[in-house]
Amino acid sequence: MKENFKLGIEFAKEMDGKDELRHYKERFYIGEGELYFDGNSLGACSKDAEASVLEMLEIWKREKILMWNFEDGKYFKYPQFIGGLFSEMVNADKNEITATNSVTINIHQALATFYKPTKERYKILVDELNFPTDIHAVKSQIRLKGLDIEDTLKVVKSRDGRIIEEDDIIDALTDDVAVVLLPSLLYRSAQLLDMERVTKAAHEKGIIIGWDLSHSIGSVPHDFKKIDPDFAVWVTYKHISAGPGANAVLYINKRHFGTEPGMAGWHGNKKETQFLLSHDHTPAEDADAWLTGTPNMLSMAPIEGVMRIFNEAGIDKIREKSLKMTDYIIFLIEERLSKYGFSNGTPVDHARRGGHIALEHDEAYRICLALKEKNAIPDFREPNVIRLAPVALYVSFEDIHKLVDILEEIGRDKLYEKFSNKRALVV
Ligand SMILES: *Cc1c(COP(=O)(O)O)cnc(C)c1O
Repeated sequence: MKENFKLGIEFAKEMDGKDELRHYKERFYIGEGELYFDGNSLGACSKDAEASVLEMLEIWKREKILMWNFEDGKYFKYPQFIGGLFSEMVNADKNEITATNSVTINIHQALATFYKPTKERYKILVDELNFPTDIHAVKSQIRLKGLDIEDTLKVVKSRDGRIIEEDDIIDALTDDVAVVLLPSLLYRSAQLLDMERVTKAAHEKGIIIGWDLSHSIGSVPHDFKKIDPDFAVWVTYKHISAGPGANAVLYINKRHFGTEPGMAGWHGNKKETQFLLSHDHTPAEDADAWLTGTPNMLSMAPIEGVMRIFNEAGIDKIREKSLKMTDYIIFLIEERLSKYGFSNGTPVDHARRGGHIALEHDEAYRICLALKEKNAIPDFREPNVIRLAPVALYVSFEDIHKLVDILEEIGRDKLYEKFSNKRALVV
């Protein structure tokens, strides 16, 4: 792979010329000269997402309460309709997926449902490098059961601060573990975990396992028919680009249909009898049973628009381009940036790499400030990581080349020295 790459802007332009997905960039709002590499924190707005929000407003204006019955109940059943738009991307049945709440709340819901500690089997297994909110949710669910966190939470350590070895996870699957919650992709290093192998090992021990796909959804295809997880959650505002605070998604494997949801609400009731308004809860027979309150229509509408783009482009093509782009960044780091103290902290092996690159440098924070001043947007993760996400639908090879030009200049001329190391509220 590395051998195929060449230095120089001409090569980048040649790659763009061959890129089947290059036209999708026109459907996104990217400023003139803007190099946007933070789509793994907040994806860019598309015209499709914008149009579907405006359409939802129109429907509200025109239909008011009648909107719930409008178009054969499409909007009343909107969470599963939106969830179903991900069925190809994760290879799951449409009624196993529903859009609701945030990832944090969906983790609470899944644990409230599946975490049933006994004297012998009561531990929850997590990893040391997961995103904080997942761990906060796990700890509060342990506390709600009246158990001791120290004794109940089992944490798989990283050997090097970047990677979690699947072997270490599997070794930790002891008979006292009740539930496992892991990220598909580590948000800092972009390591992709072997979900199929770990899930199989958990199931051999009779352990429930859930995956948080927040950092891989939209850049990596997943095959849930093969992986067979018990539950999964993911955000839609990162690679999916559905906008700040757009609803998250909850997947419940159909073998768990019929399990009583841990946190019940009237929208989890069977649609046919919901408006009988009975105090006896009759859960829906599919993933909708895990819904709670009235769906956040305006926060789901942009997902409908942007998923049209994803399903049109196809996740396999997106993955193919994404890997080519991260390969290209790794090549340019080695060839042009390593001499200025930059190094790659992301696995080089395709099977272990997601859709972003962790560019490491001792001055990472100040380098990010220098990049932003030049209209190049990365993000920073403590203590020394510059994350660069070339989102396949709106980043070009030429953009990558321009970004590396800027990074080279910042490194060579130490342009970061004029910035303060004092952290901003959102970094
Ligand atoms: C981004 C992210 C979240 C965000 O959770 P919200 O509740 O939707 O804010 C959670 N977990 C992981 C692993 C993430 O990457």
